[in-house]
Amino acid sequence: MQTLFLLKCRKSYRHLNLNNQVLKSKAIFFDRDGVVNYRPVGDYVKTPFEFHFIPDFLNFFKKIKDSGYLAILISNQQGVGKGIMTEEQLTEVTCYMQDELLRLSGFNFDDIYYCTDLKESNSPRRKPNPGMLLEAIAKWDFDPVNSWMVGDSESDIIAGKRARVRTVLLTNIPALQTEAHHVFISLTKIENIF
Ligand SMILES: [Mg+2]
Repeated sequence: MQTLFLLKCRKSYRHLNLNNQVLKSKAIFFDRDGVVNYRPVGDYVKTPFEFHFIPDFLNFFKKIKDSGYLAILISNQQGVGKGIMTEEQLTEVTCYMQDELLRLSGFNFDDIYYCTDLKESNSPRRKPNPGMLLEAIAKWDFDPVNSWMVGDSESDIIAGKRARVRTVLLTNIPALQTEAHHVFISLTKIENIF
């Protein structure tokens, strides 16, 4: 999967290699659907036309990149495992996201991890398991203590805690039971914790 993105998004990744030289000591892991882009209810983002950025994310993303954080996408996409979409479609959506992020904020994700396995597979990579985060931590060699997982579901939070990073849950349900270190209604409400 990673190789596929490198081949097809070469332009974006060349830019990323420059980003990567800034600071490697801290990272923010982002869930995708519901954090980066609006989550289609009961469906998957199958084409670039179905991918719509959440405006709050774009502002937040620029801010944390300006502060020297690595930005790493960690996303379950079992729509591929179900046969609802193909890996090529996922790659197309990813390239669109990266190109648009670069155009709109001046930065894009430094690394991207997807798990396309079905929920029933109990894959060690599929959130709430921490496999994708642990792969990224091993690859980039940063300190989990200075790093964060931002997600909109409890499985993101559990995966983050299992990887021993700090966690932020985005939700508009104030009384939701969660293990997250911080809860915010949106990324605009996060102040002074990064
Ligand atoms: Mg989500």
